[in-house]
Amino acid sequence: MGISFDSRPNYPDRRAEFTRGVPRLLLDMTDVTPEQTRVLVVTAHPDDVDYGVAGSIARWTAEGIEVAYCIVTDGDAGGSDPSITRAEMAAQRREEQLKAASVVGVRQVEFLGYPDGRLTVSLELRRDISRVIRQFRPTRVITQNPIRDLRSMYGSHPDHTATGEATFCAVYPDARNEFAHPELVAAEGLAPHTVSEIWMLAPGGGDVTVDITDTFDRKMAALWAHVSQTAHLTDLEDRMRAWATAQAAAGNLPAGRLGESFVVLDTR
Ligand SMILES: [Zn+2]
Repeated sequence: MGISFDSRPNYPDRRAEFTRGVPRLLLDMTDVTPEQTRVLVVTAHPDDVDYGVAGSIARWTAEGIEVAYCIVTDGDAGGSDPSITRAEMAAQRREEQLKAASVVGVRQVEFLGYPDGRLTVSLELRRDISRVIRQFRPTRVITQNPIRDLRSMYGSHPDHTATGEATFCAVYPDARNEFAHPELVAAEGLAPHTVSEIWMLAPGGGDVTVDITDTFDRKMAALWAHVSQTAHLTDLEDRMRAWATAQAAAGNLPAGRLGESFVVLDTR
């Protein structure tokens, strides 16, 4: 006899608690006030965070919320100039990501240094993300979709799905289980940490849409900071505006607004 999802007592359906299109926190999280909210973004390549969530981050940092980035690969397979070595490209992209972070008020950026284009969901990757979670101790982790979207080739880069899956594994069970990756406790003294919620990037529409109309210019400035990747994209602002308009519409924001969408999971 199977267990229906509707009847599992410990997993109430909390989707109704979100007002579609209204950016707000989990209002019944009595143990986490907005002032205590700490956001960690884990994405595969330098620039992923800015395409997906920089407008929301600019809002949150302005509200005093602490935000940190964990960038898994060096993006060393990016760009198309063969005269630049891959090591030089990796160094340049780290610099670009640091500038982009500062544009939206983020000072903490951790680079895990995995090679671009060869990422797999390894125990080492799960441990390395768990380490950053235990160090920064976020309440909210933002990451990429761990599942291939058969309607989005570019959104389903294998580094993105691997990053999403490894991050979900790090949030549960690894970071909260003292017996997972025991070296994190034994050698580094990093106590277990339970993340309260995952916000998964959902550009096709999600549960929550953050209104980024007022921070769209800073999102664009963050994207332009990735000079090696965006300087030649003359239509980038138009494409980003159209993309944000579609996400706002999917989230039922008023006409003319711009948005970034997420699927939100309670992970406590
Ligand atoms: Zn990417």
